[in-house]
Amino acid sequence: MTEFSLELNDDQTTLRDWVHEFAENVVRPVAHEWDEREETPWPVIEEAAKVGIYDLDFVATTFADPTGLSMAITFEEMSWGDAGICLAIFGSTLAVAGIMNAGTPEQQMEWIPQCFGTPGDLKLAAFGVTEPDAGSDVSSLRTRAVYDEATDSWTLNGAKTWITNGGLANLHVIVATVDPSLGSRGQASFVIPEGTAGISQGQKFQKMGIRASHTAEVILQDCKVPGANLLGGKEKLDARLARVREGKKAQAQTAMATFEASRPLIGAQAIGIARAAYEYALEYAKERKQFGRAIIENQAIAFKLVDMKTHIDASRLLVWRAAWMAATRKPFLAGEGSMSKLFAGETAVRVTDDAIQILGGYGYVRDYPVERWHRDSKIYTIFEGTSEIQRLIIARAISGLHIN
Ligand SMILES: Cc1cc2nc3c(=O)[nH]c(=O)nc-3n(C[C@H](O)[C@H](O)[C@H](O)COP(=O)(O)OP(=O)(O)OC[C@H]3O[C@@H](n4cnc5c(N)ncnc54)[C@H](O)[C@@H]3O)c2cc1C
Repeated sequence: MTEFSLELNDDQTTLRDWVHEFAENVVRPVAHEWDEREETPWPVIEEAAKVGIYDLDFVATTFADPTGLSMAITFEEMSWGDAGICLAIFGSTLAVAGIMNAGTPEQQMEWIPQCFGTPGDLKLAAFGVTEPDAGSDVSSLRTRAVYDEATDSWTLNGAKTWITNGGLANLHVIVATVDPSLGSRGQASFVIPEGTAGISQGQKFQKMGIRASHTAEVILQDCKVPGANLLGGKEKLDARLARVREGKKAQAQTAMATFEASRPLIGAQAIGIARAAYEYALEYAKERKQFGRAIIENQAIAFKLVDMKTHIDASRLLVWRAAWMAATRKPFLAGEGSMSKLFAGETAVRVTDDAIQILGGYGYVRDYPVERWHRDSKIYTIFEGTSEIQRLIIARAISGLHIN
């Protein structure tokens, strides 16, 4: 029996220090520039590929950590460097998670390497669920996938919005409805590989934060893919739909299963931003003098820093617990995955706001990174399920009731 310990093992410590070094030396120095440019930071992704961070083996090994902590550690460190660049580097992993959750072993072998490419020939991937009229309510997707038996192919029509790497990606995993009458249980995921006709980028969005990460609409117009691109295969889909039509319980919904697994990792990114802001504000409070003393010598400032640090550490414990539960396949009976993302996301917004307050006017201008961290933090209460939706999931889990 293993003794309880919160100490990282040697591999995890080495990983943390290595990713931190990259975040400190490669990511942070260019964070302001890519925020201003609001473009995908290709040279940084290329550098991450060269050192082996944007790399299939790295992601596979990191995800395979039986404690579940390695990916959380990686995301926290990279996001400490810059959350937008972190997403530009790791946004593809959401599509990877989609393929891992729904794909057969053969499909995983075929498609996952295509999500990364190789240094000098980088590839990006995107996971598209959200639509203009289906955000929190993923059961109301309108993108339709229709099967043609004669050609064993699927044709997709519809529009996705707010998609990370949308249209820019070489490979898209698109969640579409195959039977609208069944809501989210009538949905399936499709791989749209590079070079497929009928998929295009719509509007690219200009955002408040995480501006180095590309977010755009994806338009599907008679987009035809072979039957083999349905993740999980037709036989499994037909069996699942038959079970649902008979009123039997179906497996987890396609999109929700992917988001459930990735929530602690989104929380880990939020912690990275919060930690960056806390560290910066702490040093600033020790240096900045007003009324003849350092501002940290006032309880009002010192206690603020105490609360910031306490919330960050509490967030990390929730994220590590959820990541460990996911890796060891313990069911989230009280919505622990949602809890971790909810608390870490709200902590990031609060801590970065406090950091601006501690820096005063200097916190409000673009010459200092703190206002950027605040802008970056806000998305963590919105994407991959808003804070309200996380509370809904937890409320239903703890009450056993269908809370609305
Ligand atoms: C930068 C960015 C990147 C994104 N990347 C991706 C991506 O890669 N792939 C993807 O598929 N999606 C992506 N999204 C979409 C994201 O997941 C959605 O924006 C999010 O789920 C919320 O949906 P919505 O914006 O339509 O808001 P809505 O669902 O319209 O919600 C609006 C408000 O109503 C509240 N609300 C809604 N329903 C309820 C309820 N039942 N109870 C209480 N409150 C409720 C919400 O909490 C929110 O406050 C991204 C979004 C952004 C902004």
